[in-house]
Amino acid sequence: MVLARCTACEHRDGNKPITVFIAWRDANFERHGVKTNLCASCFVSRIAPLDVERDPTERLTCPACHIDTENDYDAVYCNSFIPGYGRRDVEAPFCNACAAQFRIWAQASGMTLEDRGRAEDSPSSKVSPEEVLASLGIQVRGAA
Ligand SMILES: [Zn+2]
Ligand SMILES: [Zn+2]
Repeated sequence: MVLARCTACEHRDGNKPITVFIAWRDANFERHGVKTNLCASCFVSRIAPLDVERDPTERLTCPACHIDTENDYDAVYCNSFIPGYGRRDVEAPFCNACAAQFRIWAQASGMTLEDRGRAEDSPSSKVSPEEVLASLGIQVRGAA
């Protein structure tokens, strides 16, 4: 029996939690990150619906309300570490309203991560995916 509680619903279901790092950028391009440890039911209701196969030719739609977000989406990134399965990465093209709701849920459901990458010196520099992961505390193979 695993004693950890789900950081979202606070239920203790006895299974190993699914760790999900959730990240996004706000209107000022500042990065935000949250670490959650979810029970299976929270994962299934919140994260799994974001993980859909997309036809490369089809237009993007919001995973929550399904409106067309091809030209204006508000991305939320989820890196999930599923016991016995491994890692799944998802980028969700939310509409603005649904992104805001999802972020509110994420912030209420996990631990806010310190944004070590918020550079004061070079606001124009591009941030690589490796830096994003490193800021979330995930070691990237081959990184210096
Ligand atoms: Zn839960
Ligand atoms: Zn939406």
